Amino acid sequence: MAQEIDRQPKKQVKERPAGQCPLYKKCGGCQMQNLSYPEQLRWKQSLVQRLLGKFCHVEPIIGMENPRHYRNKVQAAFGLTRDQKIISGVYQSSTHRIVPVDSCMIEDRKADEIIVTVRSLLKSFKLQPYQEDRGIGFLRHVLVKRGFASGQIMVVLVTSTPIFPAKNRFVEALRKAHPEITTVLMNVNPYRTSLVLGDAEKVLFGPGYIEDTLCGCVFRISAKSFYQINPVQTERLYSKAIEFAGLTGKETVIDAYCGIGTISLIAAKHAGHVIGVELNGDAVRDAIVNAKRNRIENVYFHKADAGAFMEQMAHEGQTADVVFLDPPRAGSDEKFLSSLLVLSPRKVVYISCNPETQERDLQFLRKSGYRVVRIQPVDMFPHTNHVECVVKLCRNDAKE
Ligand code: SAH
Repeated sequence: MAQEIDRQPKKQVKERPAGQCPLYKKCGGCQMQNLSYPEQLRWKQSLVQRLLGKFCHVEPIIGMENPRHYRNKVQAAFGLTRDQKIISGVYQSSTHRIVPVDSCMIEDRKADEIIVTVRSLLKSFKLQPYQEDRGIGFLRHVLVKRGFASGQIMVVLVTSTPIFPAKNRFVEALRKAHPEITTVLMNVNPYRTSLVLGDAEKVLFGPGYIEDTLCGCVFRISAKSFYQINPVQTERLYSKAIEFAGLTGKETVIDAYCGIGTISLIAAKHAGHVIGVELNGDAVRDAIVNAKRNRIENVYFHKADAGAFMEQMAHEGQTADVVFLDPPRAGSDEKFLSSLLVLSPRKVVYISCNPETQERDLQFLRKSGYRVVRIQPVDMFPHTNHVECVVKLCRNDAKE
C-alpha cells in the first residue's frame, strides 16, 4: 500500500510574499506559492527522499532557472457574471466556478494574451459565452498550444454548436491581432460534460496542427494529443531517461505508455529497435506520423493495453533489453509488472509523476530480482505540489 503523505506544505504566510500570484488562494492551481522556489524544491526533494530514499541515493532535484510561464498549453473557460460581463479563466479547484484570469504566472504569456483578445472579440461579434448552468450560449473554452521551439501557435475555439456566425471574419480579426497564430480550429462540444473537448473538429485556418522539437525530434501536436506541458524540463527528463538506459545501438527496447512516441523516437536513435505501446488510438496515430516525419524506421507502435501487450510478448517467448515505462498517475498494474519479470529486461527506466504509486511498484520489482540504482527527481510543474521522478533499475545479475 502506498503510504499516506501530507501533500500540503505547512508554512503559513500572513502577507503575500513579493512575486506571489494575487489569485493564489482563489485559483488553487499552484498549491506551493506560499513557499519561495528554493523552498519548494527542498520540499519536493524531501518528499521523494521520504518515499524513495530507502531504495537508493536520491539525486538533487533538477529545478528550473526561470520557473515562470512554463506551460505551453493554456485552457480558459468562458462564462458570464451575474451582471452579464464576459469572463474567462480557470475553474477554481474542485468546482465549476470560473476565477477570471488575464495573465497567469505559470502559463505562456502569448497564450494568455490571445485568450484576452478572443474575449474582447466575442463582444464585438455579439457572441455569447456558454452558460454551464443553463446549457445556453456559444463559446465554452479556448485552448491555446504553443511550440516553444518552433514558435507555432494553435488556437482551438470550443463551441457548443457547429453554427459559428461570421467565423471567417472572426478568425481574420484574431489573426490580425496575433499574426503569430499558425492554425485555428473549432471544436464542437454540445454535451453537458466537464470534458473540455468534444468529438467534432473543423480547421478554420492553417494545417490544423502545430509542430515542436524536443531532444532533436520533431513532433506533430494536434488539438487532442497529449504533449508534455513543460518542454524545457521535459528535455531534461528525457535526456536523463536516455542516459539511464545506457543504450549502445543494438538493444530491443519497449516504451510502455508511450503517448505520441516521444521517448520511443528519441530512444530509437540510440537503440536497435523500439516497440511503443499505448492505449489511446489518436496518440498512436500521432506517434506513427511522428516516426515518419523524423524518418525513423526502427520503431513500431501498437495500440494496446500495456499490461496485456507485455503479457502477450512474454507468452510468445519474446525478450527485451530495456523497458521504459511512463504510466499515468495510478502507476502500473500487476499484469504489466508480472509480464515485465517474464520478459526480464536487463534495465528498466521508470518515469512517474506520482512517487507514491512509483514506490509501490519499485517495492514489487525490488522483491522480484531488480535493484534500484539511480533516482532523479525533476521539477516539471513549479509552484504545484507535483513531482516527477525518473528511476533506473537493473536486473540483479546484470551490470549497470
Ligand atoms: N510517455 C509519454 C506519455 C506519458 S502519459 C510522454 O511522455 O509523452 C501516460 C500515457 O499512458 C498516456 O498517453 C495514456 O493514454 C497512456 N495509457 C494509460 N493507460 C494505459 C494502458 N493501460 N496501456 C497503455 N497506455 C496507457
